[in-house]
Amino acid sequence: MHESGGRGKSVVIGGGIAGMTCALLLARQGMQVTLVERSRQLGPTVRGFSRGGLYFESGFHYAGSIEGCGLLQRLLDRLGISDDIEVASLPDGGCLDQVCFRDDGRGFCFPQGWEALEGNLSAQFPEHSDGIASYLAAMRRVWRLMDDSFPERSEALAELLMSGEGGTQADAFVSHGLSDPALQSLLSAHNLLYGTMPSETSFVFHSLVIGSYYESMGMVRGGGRALVLAFENALCEAGVVVVTGEEASTITLDGGRVAGIELATGGVLPADTCVCSSHPSHLLRMLPERAFRPVYRSRIAEFADTPSALVLFARAEKTGVAPGNRILLDSSSGGAENWRSRELADRPHFVSVASDDDAGVSVICPMGWEELRKHGLCDAEHERVEDYRARKKALGDALLESVCPHVEEWLGRLELIDAATPITFSDQLNAPHGALYGIKHLALDMPLLPRTRVGGLFLAGQAIVAPGIMGAICSGFTAASAATDEVARK
Ligand SMILES: Cc1cc2nc3c(=O)[nH]c(=O)nc-3n(C[C@H](O)[C@H](O)[C@H](O)COP(=O)(O)OP(=O)(O)OC[C@H]3O[C@@H](n4cnc5c(N)ncnc54)[C@H](O)[C@@H]3O)c2cc1C
Repeated sequence: MHESGGRGKSVVIGGGIAGMTCALLLARQGMQVTLVERSRQLGPTVRGFSRGGLYFESGFHYAGSIEGCGLLQRLLDRLGISDDIEVASLPDGGCLDQVCFRDDGRGFCFPQGWEALEGNLSAQFPEHSDGIASYLAAMRRVWRLMDDSFPERSEALAELLMSGEGGTQADAFVSHGLSDPALQSLLSAHNLLYGTMPSETSFVFHSLVIGSYYESMGMVRGGGRALVLAFENALCEAGVVVVTGEEASTITLDGGRVAGIELATGGVLPADTCVCSSHPSHLLRMLPERAFRPVYRSRIAEFADTPSALVLFARAEKTGVAPGNRILLDSSSGGAENWRSRELADRPHFVSVASDDDAGVSVICPMGWEELRKHGLCDAEHERVEDYRARKKALGDALLESVCPHVEEWLGRLELIDAATPITFSDQLNAPHGALYGIKHLALDMPLLPRTRVGGLFLAGQAIVAPGIMGAICSGFTAASAATDEVARK
């Protein structure tokens, strides 16, 4: 175990991927670190669960650039956990993501790598081959900047994001002449992975997040469960004190600096540094009003949230099926953009089988908080209705019925084991309205930075850099670097 504590006391709020990353890095810098997580176990968003003898992923199906010398793999190396994680080999043909157009039966394989992707897209849309080449080249330039500069020169990325270069992703479709709705559908299929649509997100942000997947895609053998286990071992090794089942309720200040963290159960943790990785709106409740300027408070209060979802967990009739994902879309709709106006069965769906011997099937269908009442799942106070479970099952069975024809040759018939609704996500992720990926990173929003005006207080989590395992890990790096810089300057 490390000798720790020589550089002050630090409390990290939130034991998700971002918080675990940050806690690990701070402990390795010689700080005495306590990691506080309100759930009973670390990594509740991603650690998955077992039901009916099957393992289901909860928040980590696959990632970009996790293989070879990809950025995520390099970051896991730096965290010292890459040896504990096995990236699963791809199924034959190297295609992890298959798109299935429900309306015309066409399929599309997202291959590994930019060149192969350009080749596959140009073969399917030959009249757009020039536009496809220039669109992907523009995306790749942004992704390269991320790949080359993170984590050492991450300010370059912040500047690029703030510049608004390239407008929205939807603007980029127009400027590269990509007018075919089916092509737009394919190029926005992965917007589902971070819950923001082409008309809302900047082209630069989309390229930072999805560029990693276009570079290469991979699944971790054993999924989120294996990832959390690797983190837990490293945290223990680094001497981080882990407190689970406790909610941080207040960040106490002394002379405008962090002095400690109060727990909801009454305990106090003294601290010189605090990194908060929960949803940013929680921060406002944890601090006295005067801690932030009114303009910063309203900025945080007004962030829009990403949508929630109805997620089905099912047993496949076929056994030993190849792990992978199938994205169900309509070719004529221009992709995921207007999902709210469609019935659940007509929305984009993400179907995934994890890389695990006992893996179940997950089906993710976007669903808004306001739709809970429409489907009779909650009352006016948004509490579960008495027959919530029965209604959830009926809704899940009906949706699964519509999904089956598009995956039957891969999985056989599907049997519903359980389902999660926006209420489930609101409880489990502690996210307002069950937002799957926290706040939306909108084209016109100023990004939140890890440093705050409160001395010793830093922000991490999917709201800071980007959603996803990559975004959360990157945010852990940026927060740890800002915190250690401040300690070094003191
Ligand atoms: C259904 C689903 C599927 C997904 N699939 C993928 C995927 O395939 N690939 C991918 O890369 N990403 C995926 N994601 C996204 C990814 O899981 C998240 O972006 C990432 O895990 C966020 O990590 P985080 O640490 O920022 O946030 P969180 O995991 O939300 O961590 C914050 C933690 O803080 C805790 N907390 C909050 N308030 C307090 C408090 N006051 N005191 C103590 N603890 C507190 C919470 O309990 C939580 O554990 C998926 C997400 C979902 C929901």
